[in-house]
Amino acid sequence: MKVHFLGGAGTVTGSKTLIETSSISILIDCGLFQGLKELRELNRLPLSYDPKEIDFVLLTHGHLDHCGWLPKLVQDGFKGKIFCTSPTKEIARLILMDSAKIQEEEAEKANNEHYSKHNPAIPLYTIEDVQQVLPLFKVIEKDVVVALSDSVSFSFFYASHILGACSIALDIEGKKLVFSGDIGQDDDILLFPAVKPKNADYIFLESTYGNRVHPNNNPLFDLEIIINNTYNKGGNLVIPSFAVERVQVMMYLIWKLKKENKIPDIPYIIDTPMGIDVLELFLENRKWHKLNYEECSEMCKTFTLISEFKDTIEVIYDKQPKVVIAASGMITGGRVLSYLERYITKPENTVALVGYQAEGTRGRKLLEGDKTIKMYGKIYEVEATILSIEGLSAHGDQKDLINWLTELENKPQSIFLVHGENEASEGLKNEIETQLQLHCIIPKRRQIIEI
Ligand SMILES: [Zn+2]
Repeated sequence: MKVHFLGGAGTVTGSKTLIETSSISILIDCGLFQGLKELRELNRLPLSYDPKEIDFVLLTHGHLDHCGWLPKLVQDGFKGKIFCTSPTKEIARLILMDSAKIQEEEAEKANNEHYSKHNPAIPLYTIEDVQQVLPLFKVIEKDVVVALSDSVSFSFFYASHILGACSIALDIEGKKLVFSGDIGQDDDILLFPAVKPKNADYIFLESTYGNRVHPNNNPLFDLEIIINNTYNKGGNLVIPSFAVERVQVMMYLIWKLKKENKIPDIPYIIDTPMGIDVLELFLENRKWHKLNYEECSEMCKTFTLISEFKDTIEVIYDKQPKVVIAASGMITGGRVLSYLERYITKPENTVALVGYQAEGTRGRKLLEGDKTIKMYGKIYEVEATILSIEGLSAHGDQKDLINWLTELENKPQSIFLVHGENEASEGLKNEIETQLQLHCIIPKRRQIIEI
């Protein structure tokens, strides 16, 4: 059989791995390329394998870099089923709708302001295209073996990372292939540790933090200090946050501090419509995370949830100190901009970054100490305190990734290191080869390897 590395090879986005035998073609994940322009432009190119020839898609989780190219795949002729877990289906729906909306808005803006070299600018896909994808989703329980043919079956198993995320064990014509998907930290705040594979002939392992060990700080303690310091100055704390998972983690930490009377009795506000939708999913899918029903409902009572923009305005002009969690996490857009327009120029306020800040984003610039920030075409002086809370990553570090391989009862023929920048994959390859004596390959995008 052949493995086609169509995306997420040599980079962390655009995850797409295709397994082709003489009788079946299966695509694992169908992600959007993100970040640098040369990567994003790949989203416009046709797949090097005809989507009409793909029988099934198996989806590890609902992040955009794993499901965000599905509307294009369907547009280009894919008609099969897309298997995933129930929370993944819901998260993918929210993320794809949001992605289509952003693409439609960007194309419209480019056409109105005539800045696109494409005339007219056309969105990569629209909400209508996403609606063609949704009926193809087929929900599967984790740990249940699903037969795709006489000689092909698969199952999902728990991967931590985000709600609903799973790794995949694929038995295909006598070979056992395991795809890690993205793997969370073993001591994640809300999620259980990832289930480790017991045997595999080939493993496809993510390597986002393959050359890094996460810092050993205590995010709860860091947050307590930041909230109290900002309150003592009479200021507001703004936490830009990813809507999926991170908002819910921040809510949990704040609720814990509040319960122990370690932080003041002030408004704690969640202002992200998608974050609130994901919170609903947390409440509905309790077997997927550590919180029980009482904790969930008690946690929610600590917060004011906002979805209407008029309420955002009201909160911004309310003078009392407060804590606001708003998307987006890297300050690339979303409600958080409205808060920062008003708050970032005042020294009593604090902005706490709680996630990865990619190159070129406002979040990264603030983190690197830029003294001004541009929002909606206007320049603002940065007078607020800018801080970062480490240790909250949804990805495991080198230690977690190696640990994930330690329960194998056989020796796989090869481990393909995917979903990582080159140095990260190289770092992980060295460690796996020295510590576990397992053979690793770092595939390149568009490489086809026979196994
Ligand atoms: Zn992910």
